[in-house]
Amino acid sequence: MAVEKSHEGGGASATDRFRCGYVALAGRPNVGKSTLLNALVGEHLSIVSAKAQTTRERVAGILSSDTFQILFIDAPGLLEPRYALQEAMRGAAVAAMKEADVVLFVGDATRPSTLPGADFSRESDGRSSHVVVALNKVDLVDMVVRDALLEEIAGAGYRALAISALTEEGLADLLELLLPLLPESPPLFPLDESATQPVRFFAQEYVREACMDLFQEEVPYSITCRVDEFREDQNPIYIRVIIYVERESQKGIVIGRGGSAIKKVGERSRQRIESLVGRRVFLELRAKVLPAWSRKYAQLKQLGFRTTPPGGGGQKAP
Ligand code: GDP
Ligand code: MG
Repeated sequence: MAVEKSHEGGGASATDRFRCGYVALAGRPNVGKSTLLNALVGEHLSIVSAKAQTTRERVAGILSSDTFQILFIDAPGLLEPRYALQEAMRGAAVAAMKEADVVLFVGDATRPSTLPGADFSRESDGRSSHVVVALNKVDLVDMVVRDALLEEIAGAGYRALAISALTEEGLADLLELLLPLLPESPPLFPLDESATQPVRFFAQEYVREACMDLFQEEVPYSITCRVDEFREDQNPIYIRVIIYVERESQKGIVIGRGGSAIKKVGERSRQRIESLVGRRVFLELRAKVLPAWSRKYAQLKQLGFRTTPPGGGGQKAP
């Protein structure tokens, strides 16, 4: 989304001092948080997928103008933790909300169960004054439904606004609502930077995204990717990514007959990485089995997920 160079009208905003702060995107899986982040920041920073629960780690996108800088955190979806991975995801989401200046709760207008209940402000540190609810996907519902939902959210004590991350309807109004809630502060990052995460993070995310698109059923959820080697001083840049799966059978699927599947994953993700870094990349992919990694705290830790086993150390995942 293009940001106006300066704000005209809008009362005192033109003379206000620079504002800069963190906005955490919260909400259930699949409501459109990643799509919204990408629409706002204008680059493909976070994984967008029709499959649920794809955003496993925090990704910050930065939207800067000459009067503000918003640092977006795309927290993983809030969900009932059923096993270790989900608990790690939920922990990251709650931590993101506590650190943020504003919590932007995204709800899906086609699924009213995704809207925040009165208990949400307790989870987000009791600061309902800093919660903004974006009712997303309003392109899919009629005006009557949309207005009824907005009224319901306002009734629960939240600021609410209708948007469509897909058509970009309402996004300018959303920014107008967020800005006054940010602290007056100089920019924390250079104004021409769009993401705080290093390239290696995106490299592994792009490989995982290609896997999400190419593989079916339970396989995508059993995959996590890690950059194992990254040599920027070479031309092309050399990047090796390990695709971790949970079972031998999944490894076979990821590699494919004669290596055909992993080759496809490589082609797709290499192009994306190249367009991000603006240089040629040699991408090497390997598949490895890490048995039941998503259910074991020790293995999640080894993979770099921030996680604490229930009741302190030493316990196994349920
Ligand atoms: P997240 O899990 O909350 O990050 O959700 P995603 O951003 O991955 O989006 C989930 C699905 O909803 C994707 O298929 C998106 O294309 C779709 N989606 C997101 N926002 C909108 C919207 O405003 N309108 C419509 N029609 N679809 C949307
Ligand atoms: Mg997402």
